[in-house]
Amino acid sequence: MVEVSNLRRYNTGKGMVRIEADINFTEMDSPYPLKTIYFETKEEYADMLDDESYNAFVLVPLFVAMFHKQDLHICGKISRQLYHNVKCYVWKIFCDYSPNLAPVNFTVDGFTESKENNNGITGASISSGVDALATIYDHFICEEIPNYKINALFYFGHDRKNSPTNKSGQNRFRTLLLKNQKVAQALNLPFYYLVTNLSAFNIVINKLRGGNTISMSYIALYSCILSLGRKISRYYIASALTYEQEKIFRKASHDKDMSEFCEAYLVPLIRTEQTELILDGCQYRRVEKLKRIVDWDIARKFLNVCWFNPPDGSNCGECLKCLRTLLALEIMGKLDDYSDVFDIEKYKSSSLKYKRLCLRKYNKAPFETENVDFARENNYPMPTLEKK
Ligand SMILES: [Zn+2]
Repeated sequence: MVEVSNLRRYNTGKGMVRIEADINFTEMDSPYPLKTIYFETKEEYADMLDDESYNAFVLVPLFVAMFHKQDLHICGKISRQLYHNVKCYVWKIFCDYSPNLAPVNFTVDGFTESKENNNGITGASISSGVDALATIYDHFICEEIPNYKINALFYFGHDRKNSPTNKSGQNRFRTLLLKNQKVAQALNLPFYYLVTNLSAFNIVINKLRGGNTISMSYIALYSCILSLGRKISRYYIASALTYEQEKIFRKASHDKDMSEFCEAYLVPLIRTEQTELILDGCQYRRVEKLKRIVDWDIARKFLNVCWFNPPDGSNCGECLKCLRTLLALEIMGKLDDYSDVFDIEKYKSSSLKYKRLCLRKYNKAPFETENVDFARENNYPMPTLEKK
C-alpha cells in the first residue's frame, strides 16, 4: 500500500512556508529518493495554503500507486466531490492513458465539510505563450461576468524542467519567475508563485520505464492549484488543443502527454466544493487564439513561444514552435509587428522548408494541419510539395 499521512504546515526559513505530507510504501521498498510531498510559497501568502485537507496530495500519489499496483490510502480528509470523481472516473482515465497504470483501491479517512466559496480568487497561470495569453486576454480584458474575470496570476514550479528539486530546474524556474512577474506587473494583476517536489516522482517513473518518458506535469499543476484551495474559487487551465483536435490526435499522446490525451474531460473532474478548474481555449484553434491577441500590446511586447529561449529572452525564429507561430503571423500580415520579439530574418530563411513540412504533416499533426487550413482560408499561397 501507498500511504499519505501527517499533513502539516511550517515555516522553512527565508520567508517561505510549506504544507507537507509523508508518503510511505508499506509492502515494497520505495524506489523514490524522497519521503515527503510538499508545496511551498512565500510566508505572506500562507493563508492561501490548504493545511486541512489532503486534496493536493491525491493525484500524483494515485498515479504512483497505480504504477506500482499498490492500493492508496490517504490518512486524513479530502473533499467529498474530489473523492467521488477520483474514485468513479479519474482512475479509468489514468488506465486509458498508460498501460503501466492498473486499477487499485483508493481509500481516505473522511471528508472535509468545506462549502462553496464563490468570491475567492479567479486565477490563471501566467506564461508568455499563445495559449496562456489568449486565456488572460479573454478572461481578464474581455470577460463580462465579475466572478469569471481573472483577478490574480500564478506561476508554479511543478514540471521536471522548472522544478526546484534539481539545479537546472532551479535556474529555469528563476528565469521564468522574473519574466512572468514582469507580464503580471504590466497587466497590473497580483502575482503568486509556488513550488513543489512532485516532479521527482516523474523523474523516477521515467527511469523505471527505461527512459520512455511519460508526463505527469499536468496532474502536478492541478495539485498546485488545489494546494491553494482555501482562496482559489476558480482557475483557468489554458488548453493545448481544440475539442475536435483532441478527438483526432489524442492517440499520438497516449502514454506520453496527458494534456493532449485527455484534458478536455479530465480537467472538469478535478474539483472540490471550493475550487473549480475550467479548461479554457478548446473552442479555438491555436491560430485563432493568436488572431485574438495579435494586436494586443502585451502580446507584441511579451509573446514568447521559443523552445530554446536565447539568453536575451527573445524567440529564436527557427525552432518548430517559433516557426508555427511565425507562419500564422505571416498569413495574417503581422510579421513586422513582432520583429522586436522574434528573429524574423532567421524565420525567412527557414519558412519555405517549414511550409513544406506543414503540407507533409497535414492531418498528421494538429498545429501544422491548422496552419495549412489557415493559409487556405485566407487564400494565402503555400508552396507545392517537392516530388520524391
Ligand atoms: Zn524558437
